[in-house]
Amino acid sequence: MANVLVTGGAGYIGSHACKALKAAGFTPVTYDNLVTGWQDAVKFGPFEKGDLADRARLDEVFATYQPVAVMHFAALSQVGEAMSQPGRYWANNTGGSLNLIEAAVAAGCLDFVFSSTCATYGEHDNVVLDENTPQLPLNAYGASKRAVEDILKDFGAAYGLRSVIFRYFNVAGADPEAEVGEFHRPETHLVPLVLDAIDGKRDALTIFGTDYDTPDGTCIRDYVHVCDLVDAHVLGLQWLKDGKGSQIFNLGTGSGFSVREVMDKAEEVTGSKVPCTVGPRRAGDCTKLVSGSTRAITDLGWNPQRSSLEMMIADAWKWHQTGNYEA
Ligand code: UDP
Repeated sequence: MANVLVTGGAGYIGSHACKALKAAGFTPVTYDNLVTGWQDAVKFGPFEKGDLADRARLDEVFATYQPVAVMHFAALSQVGEAMSQPGRYWANNTGGSLNLIEAAVAAGCLDFVFSSTCATYGEHDNVVLDENTPQLPLNAYGASKRAVEDILKDFGAAYGLRSVIFRYFNVAGADPEAEVGEFHRPETHLVPLVLDAIDGKRDALTIFGTDYDTPDGTCIRDYVHVCDLVDAHVLGLQWLKDGKGSQIFNLGTGSGFSVREVMDKAEEVTGSKVPCTVGPRRAGDCTKLVSGSTRAITDLGWNPQRSSLEMMIADAWKWHQTGNYEA
């Protein structure tokens, strides 16, 4: 079976991608420094501990496994942290990615699938966010990812590197079989925090701002199920193998939900109230991020099946209750 190098394969999205790759007949080789990942999540192929900054280690792993492609998930991804520690984001997300891309090219591994983000778009009033929307990130997280997109473009021109870039909207949910799920330490993402607050693993959820220009005053995001998201990655890999060339795809459903709507749905799914308090806005947050593109559906053949808010929260709740998750 062909090997695919999965950076960040011990993380939330990467571990789900490994499961999907294995199901599609590939061997996912996880490369992860375990700073935010979790070794128990590496269940679907070999594990190689390593840091993106370690070029010699990367070269060794490319030589050992001869991967046919790279799926690059490893990154720091917290907006709040990116505002307070931007250097870590530039060094890890951009510098680390450059190192990885150079190692891939040196190894002759020229098919590359990259996790980018809707945070590269920034704030746009009344603009449909499609792949041609100008990228004006509000935080170092989005900026560090946008820079990698530029690197991929330049390496495509110079060395023939072919890339599929996915700009994720908000990823939620978990493997319905609960083999893997969402776990961050510390947790900062809305859905797991809501579930933690419901079952008392944490204090009340703090809503970051109720004075946004939205119907209920809270931020609006486009949530996509992690299983649908990783399915798109397998299609992206196939796209590259079919010789269709470099392309950028938004991965969102086109439906936006406010923080309060997510809380309401979680109450409906779990039958319990979400204890909450209202806090100030979180620096770096955009009012609304909703995908306005169907390119992934029309061109890639993506068919998201689990991305209703209800199913995402139900799958996350199931994972949450396995106890594999430690708050
Ligand atoms: N959010 C919140 N309280 C929290 C965590 C998140 O109100 O404790 C809000 C956040 O301001 C944003 C939305 O929930 O509007 C989604 O945030 P998350 O960190 O999950 O993802 P992001 O949009 O930053 O990628």
